[in-house]
Amino acid sequence: MDCKEVSANLNPFISGTLSASKTRALLKHLKECDFCCDELNVRLMAARVNEILKTDKNVSYDLRNAAVPVIRAAKRKVVLNDLIWTVLILLLLAGILFVILHFVAGIL
Ligand SMILES: [Zn+2]
Repeated sequence: MDCKEVSANLNPFISGTLSASKTRALLKHLKECDFCCDELNVRLMAARVNEILKTDKNVSYDLRNAAVPVIRAAKRKVVLNDLIWTVLILLLLAGILFVILHFVAGIL
């Protein structure tokens, strides 16, 4: 069995539906080929992730929107930061105005 044949037979190998003779040939090839071992590992990991996603209903398949909650949280943080700075600047200006008025009233 060559790499192309292994690749074509990996899914039935993983699911256990590959014939015994092909399984033997595939295992023999895997002993000699790191590339196909890597491909097997990748397919097994993908199958595992797929299994997890199917069983966990809170996980989204749509990876395009994976950044949305992160971006929303970052925007909230920026707005809160701006609000805090605005309040601090207003308090500082009020304090300066109070000192000026107190100084002027003291002179008068
Ligand atoms: Zn190979």
